[in-house]
Amino acid sequence: LSDRLTSALQTLSRKGRLSDADIDATAREIRIALLEADVALSVVKDFIARIKERAKGAEVHGALNPAQQVIKIVNEELVTILGGETRRLTFAKNPPTVIMLAGLQGAGKTTLAGKLALWLKKQGHAPLLVACDLQRPNAVTQLQVVGERAGVTTFAPEPGNGVGDPVDVARRAIDEAKRAQHDIVLVDTAGRLGVDEELMKQAADIRDAVSPDETLFVVDAMIGQDAVTTAEAFRDGVGFTGVVLTKLDGDARGGAALSVRQVTGQPILFASNGEKLEDFDLFHPDRMASRILGMGDVLSLIEQAEQHFDQEKAEQTAAKLGSGQLTLEDFLEQMLAVRKMGPIGNLLGMLPGAGQMKDQLAQVDDKHLDKLQAIIRGMTPAERDDPKMINASRRLRIAKGSGVAVRDVNELVNRFFEARKMMAQMAGRFGFGGGGGGSK
Ligand code: GDP
Ligand code: MG
Repeated sequence: LSDRLTSALQTLSRKGRLSDADIDATAREIRIALLEADVALSVVKDFIARIKERAKGAEVHGALNPAQQVIKIVNEELVTILGGETRRLTFAKNPPTVIMLAGLQGAGKTTLAGKLALWLKKQGHAPLLVACDLQRPNAVTQLQVVGERAGVTTFAPEPGNGVGDPVDVARRAIDEAKRAQHDIVLVDTAGRLGVDEELMKQAADIRDAVSPDETLFVVDAMIGQDAVTTAEAFRDGVGFTGVVLTKLDGDARGGAALSVRQVTGQPILFASNGEKLEDFDLFHPDRMASRILGMGDVLSLIEQAEQHFDQEKAEQTAAKLGSGQLTLEDFLEQMLAVRKMGPIGNLLGMLPGAGQMKDQLAQVDDKHLDKLQAIIRGMTPAERDDPKMINASRRLRIAKGSGVAVRDVNELVNRFFEARKMMAQMAGRFGFGGGGGGSK
């Protein structure tokens, strides 16, 4: 059954390639989604051009309509770009590994230092936090507090010596790390509200003094388009080997991720999403892609439609059909899958000898499907598995729970049994499916 069904669907929808009109129409929507996600315009233009190129060569996929298919390509491309050459932190061959944090003031460097320290500590490392932000009053204390919360040591200039020299502090910190056997040194640096020369020079001096194994550019995801200029300034002024996005818990739409990645080519290693030290994780390109597209629902629909093609599942259902073991759960699943694919009758019409069923199902409109869905969802898993157990009192409970009349529940259950019987007969007649018997 599954083979026939699959190939029937494929020949029906495999019209060849996506048409230019399909691609253009969807590209326009994607462009708007990207701009709304605060991706920089220049980045959007490049990206759309690439997508169009790729979509033009793409073949029509049986399960998806053209718009869905272009969105799928966009999503794949986004995930590739965001996660292309995804890599972990590089550790030095001879410890300590030096990781320097750079970025604008308020980007979240100091907070990140604590998060990263905790994360590394949990993996068995012994990080040393180093306070090289000596510009802002309280910056040192802030790092010390964060360090305490993470349960790691903080290296800071002795208080009372006036403003210290961050380069000197950084150098001494490396010695201290070797002495006290810290295998990782996390250097927190100062930031300014805007990009400025002095800041860049200081960061570059610290870099030269400690030759970091990783320089992480920390960027607030909420700055959106400005991420491009900031990232360029840090790339040219200090250079960096990786990116950390912060404040993803805010209403950031994620455009900064794509912009920074496209413009600098450096990978995004981590994502920070809250004020607590635990609000921190490796960067997940797929989550960011759906955030940028703002099409989470569409993407999951696409996935579901594709799942309908899942061979194994189709085979299981086919076997159940033939042996009369179809459950209400299967019924619901099938209905949901079929729903994504257009009028329900089309699909059933491809089954040989399904004429009768087709007529019956053609009357089923979307509203009706909603109702059926609500009723089935109102049943317990045991009831869905074995609808025979649904007695009068259960019917009453289900009707109340899903806000329909008992008559509706009765109708659904009766129809289900009818359908199951009919499908088993059909399967027997055409020799496919069948409990235990070979297919076809
Ligand atoms: P720095 O100037 O780069 O060191 O930035 P800070 O680490 O001092 O962070 C600036 C502010 O942003 C602080 O109030 C932090 O609590 C807050 N912050 C940092 N990271 C995050 C985050 O991921 N989410 C949220 N909501 N706030 C954050
Ligand atoms: Mg700071």
